[in-house]
Amino acid sequence: MEKVLNFKQGRVPLLISMPHAGLRLTPTVQAGLIPAAQSLPDTDWHIPRLYAFAAELGASTLAAEYSRFVVDLNRPADDTPMYVGATTGLYPSILFDGVPLFREGLEPSAEERATYLQQIWMPYHQTLEQELARLKAEFGYALLFDAHSIRSLIPHLFDGKLPDFNLGTFNGASCDPTLAQQLEAICARHGEFSHVLNGRFKGGHITRHYGHPAEDIHAVQLELCQSTYMEEFEPFNYRADLATPTQVVLRELLEGLLAWGRQTYGK
Ligand SMILES: [Zn+2]
Repeated sequence: MEKVLNFKQGRVPLLISMPHAGLRLTPTVQAGLIPAAQSLPDTDWHIPRLYAFAAELGASTLAAEYSRFVVDLNRPADDTPMYVGATTGLYPSILFDGVPLFREGLEPSAEERATYLQQIWMPYHQTLEQELARLKAEFGYALLFDAHSIRSLIPHLFDGKLPDFNLGTFNGASCDPTLAQQLEAICARHGEFSHVLNGRFKGGHITRHYGHPAEDIHAVQLELCQSTYMEEFEPFNYRADLATPTQVVLRELLEGLLAWGRQTYGK
């Protein structure tokens, strides 16, 4: 297995996780994918680039190197479904459009998938857990921002066009309600973008598993429409002209998280 994650430690109590940013495939997955999947259409494209400014804010960042087509880091290890209705699992078998991901008989074996869990999924989650524990030990609390993006129109997964900014707090369970209110207020100030809190995307496994407001760990997921910063179809080009105004809002959201933490915890 090549390098499985990219972690950079920061200096403020905020960790940004990017579990679907990876582009790397194992040889077995590469050989088995249907032609339409070879371009990795369901990737959270360019997320590390979009959030590159977060280093200036002092945030820690953790990004996946392997594609979700190998193993989905935002699903629980026991593969309990995240959403009622159409969804994809720990080892996706379909594209977001609903078509099979692998050519018949060319899915990785159960044994291979067990190594993906051990060698890719586990290190990501161990790093997440250790970094949140470090932040909590140092600051008395930790903030987790799980950064995602998705094509704005996917009829198999949801009706119509998705709002631009989809904040998820697992229906209020993953962070303090005043934090969610402040983040919503920031989105609301930017009327050029639409937003929703706990709409179609309420937060996946990472948000649900690590967000424990009673233990001073507050997690928020952002599912961002890819139409706000890139070409949504192949070759999935980054569009700096679109991304620049979007990054203004992203920066305010991350600064808003940190400001809320300082107000609430006094450091
Ligand atoms: Zn994602």
